[in-house]
Amino acid sequence: IRTARMVEGSFTWLVPGILEGKENPKYEVVAVSPSAMKDLGLQEGEETTELFKETVSGYSSRVDAIGVYPWAQAYAGWQFGQWAGQLGDGRAVSLFEGTNKTTGKRYELQLKGGGLTPYSRFADGKAVLRSSIREALGSEAVNALGIPTTRALSLVNLPETMAVRESLESCAVVCRMAETWVRIGTFDLHRARGARKEMRKLADYCIEHVFGYEPNNSGRKVIDAASKTRYQDLYTEIVKRNANTTALWQAYGFLNGVLNTDNTSIFGLTLDYGPFAFMDTFDPSYTPNHDDGMLRYSYRNTPSVILWNLVRLGEDLGELLGAAPDFVDDTEFIEKGLNSEQIEGVKDRAETFIMESQKVFETEFLKSFNKTMGKRLGLQTFEEEDHDKILTPLLDMLQACELDFNQFFRKLSDLELFAETSSLDVEHFFPQIRGFAPMYSLEEAKDKLLNWINTVYKPRLEKEGSKSDEERRERMRKVNPKFILKGWILDEVIQKARQNDFTLYHQVQKMALSPFNETWGLPEELENRLTGDVPRSERD
Ligand code: AMP
Ligand code: MG
Ligand code: MG
Repeated sequence: IRTARMVEGSFTWLVPGILEGKENPKYEVVAVSPSAMKDLGLQEGEETTELFKETVSGYSSRVDAIGVYPWAQAYAGWQFGQWAGQLGDGRAVSLFEGTNKTTGKRYELQLKGGGLTPYSRFADGKAVLRSSIREALGSEAVNALGIPTTRALSLVNLPETMAVRESLESCAVVCRMAETWVRIGTFDLHRARGARKEMRKLADYCIEHVFGYEPNNSGRKVIDAASKTRYQDLYTEIVKRNANTTALWQAYGFLNGVLNTDNTSIFGLTLDYGPFAFMDTFDPSYTPNHDDGMLRYSYRNTPSVILWNLVRLGEDLGELLGAAPDFVDDTEFIEKGLNSEQIEGVKDRAETFIMESQKVFETEFLKSFNKTMGKRLGLQTFEEEDHDKILTPLLDMLQACELDFNQFFRKLSDLELFAETSSLDVEHFFPQIRGFAPMYSLEEAKDKLLNWINTVYKPRLEKEGSKSDEERRERMRKVNPKFILKGWILDEVIQKARQNDFTLYHQVQKMALSPFNETWGLPEELENRLTGDVPRSERD
């Protein structure tokens, strides 16, 4: 097992969690993600075995049952721009690593809501059903859209285990999995402790085992562990991955809502499904976090806040990033550090490197955002000028017209632009129940939309010779989901689940796992409602 627990001081072995305590409460595996099963290399049907059920519920988290001993990781973090000190897996218990023998993909499995750990601080180590449903469905929905994320294998209901939140609520356990759970906060911890050797060990671990590993032994090395620039290479890789993921979040209107450094994955995974949301209408100042009065984690600020976190990581790694190539493997440097003269040089080089990395982030972010948005628009190529000529007017129009962000692209896919017989059916973008900003009447909004379609979009398609509605629709449907896991849908699922009815959960899971489908074989009325407009009563 090659996990970050190889680094001293950043984990603790655990005795079994709440489920094996004297309460011995009732547990029910209420949902399993077939997509996660497949990615783990499990066979259909294995989820019904006692071993599976006991493992994902925490009953087997003991050395005698599955041959491993659970552990929890320590980390620290910057929360809302402030140093928050030591944190850690307060309610997540890691079990083991599993490798899919076919794909070679490796995951570390962990139980969220698995009981108290040494890092629980003042809290109870439990997760309530509400937040567990949000994580289990949310992370699998994000994965299905092709956005890098931590995953959720299963949801276990604990109807007799209670926790006090706003009221007394029942609990649950989610079995989560990820290529790595190392986050920027893991590095922050070692900086705060002044632990130079552990910092290097953690960086080496990431280079060799997190990034150095490639499924199917393809031989491709992301980072050459023998290179004297390996720490810079590590940082650059982390910067690029986060830039790409951030671009995908923005292209699909997804917001994490609490992008602290302890929630920023070094693998560029969407991490921590707390106050997350897909936005309804395009609104750059939207934040799903009710405690975020400064709009730090709003749509508009997301790229700069991730970059801010990455600069903290750069500072954590400062000594390693700024060390001259000759020092990198110098035992004296590793043991004793540098003298004050040498330190100045290291500081300068680290600062310059971190500054240059910000440009890497910006370039990578834009490249990825433009590429994804171009695809969402059905464009076969994306030219630099398209950003200002197509995207900017589009986003302005979407905001002004208060159109549902994700629905817009799906509807645009289906629009007949070139069919001679049909005129443009602009109406279908405007569900009757949607209200408009006081600045615009319905007619004005329609004009704005028509104007963008006729003077910007259509000519651009013609320019690249895309005159087939059918071909464009086919391309666009693969990247424009018909189903999006909106907050109001999650609320309904939670409400039903609290009454021990998981029917809607399973129906929604089916849609969330195949969001690009046109239909899911569920009752038509249900599909229409769940892919339709936000109910009026649910709007902010
Ligand atoms: P978050 O705001 O979700 O990123 O959590 C911040 C820190 O609080 C993390 O270290 C969590 O592990 C910890 N935490 C949150 N909820 C609980 C809980 N119910 N029990 C123990 N620790 C918790
Ligand atoms: Mg967190
Ligand atoms: Mg959280």
